[in-house]
Amino acid sequence: MPLVNLNSVLEPAFKNQYAIGAFNVINSDMLQAIIAASEKKKSPVIINIAEVHFPFCDLEIMTTAIKKAAEKAAIPVVLHLDHGLSFDTVVRAINLGFTSVMFDGSTLDYDENVKQTKEIVKMCHAAGIPVEAELGAVGGEEGGGLFGSSNPALYTNTNQAVDYVKQTNVDALAVAIGNSHGKYKGEPKLDFDRLEEIKNVTNIPLVLHGGSGIPDSDIRKAIAIGISKINFYTGMSGVAIETLKEEVKITGLNYNELPEILQKVKNNIQKVVEHQIDVFSNGKSVKY
Ligand SMILES: [Zn+2]
Repeated sequence: MPLVNLNSVLEPAFKNQYAIGAFNVINSDMLQAIIAASEKKKSPVIINIAEVHFPFCDLEIMTTAIKKAAEKAAIPVVLHLDHGLSFDTVVRAINLGFTSVMFDGSTLDYDENVKQTKEIVKMCHAAGIPVEAELGAVGGEEGGGLFGSSNPALYTNTNQAVDYVKQTNVDALAVAIGNSHGKYKGEPKLDFDRLEEIKNVTNIPLVLHGGSGIPDSDIRKAIAIGISKINFYTGMSGVAIETLKEEVKITGLNYNELPEILQKVKNNIQKVVEHQIDVFSNGKSVKY
């Protein structure tokens, strides 16, 4: 089916307490692995492309491939701009046919974050595109850093969250509650009380970034409280690298083995995504 809009998959998730996985891609192998896993699990899926990954993939080619994959897929697919950093990037994404946008103004001061997000939301809504924004700052570096940790001083402030949602009219809010991009230093500790407070005062779908490395039980708990979208990348890049390391040990990686090795990487990414969808869907996701 053609690409669908973020709200069409998040609203049922929000109402019925499950989450939709948002998986980042940097090439078509990852795309195919994620779509195959989602079809196997009969689950809707969000395909993320992060602005930090733009230098690693040709956006025109990737978005064309994603649209084609969505058309062929038996499940709804959302094409989401992850961590868009400027007005220009968001405009580019809309022109390329993205059906969902995240604007990340988390490095700006509060008033400037509100001001810029408001403008982005106005433009996107006029084009029929939902917007996710971030308040507070998720730890680590998006797509880049090796180990991330979160700073409690930058956790999402509950009072600000009410004001922010009201002023900007965003469709979904990414929260900072101890979650972090990249691999976690030690066990992640999520602030569930804060999450519950934010959920109660905002009453819109909440997003958890840094989904890799959070124990399944904590993910389930976060979903039960109000997380409806979970971003996931490091778990896939991790298994890809581990697979390559294993293959070097076993075969020495000869030039003639490239197709088989890339196939193994793809299959292992698919397995990781299948597991995550099981956890995120919480046994409640609509089956397609
Ligand atoms: Zn993120």
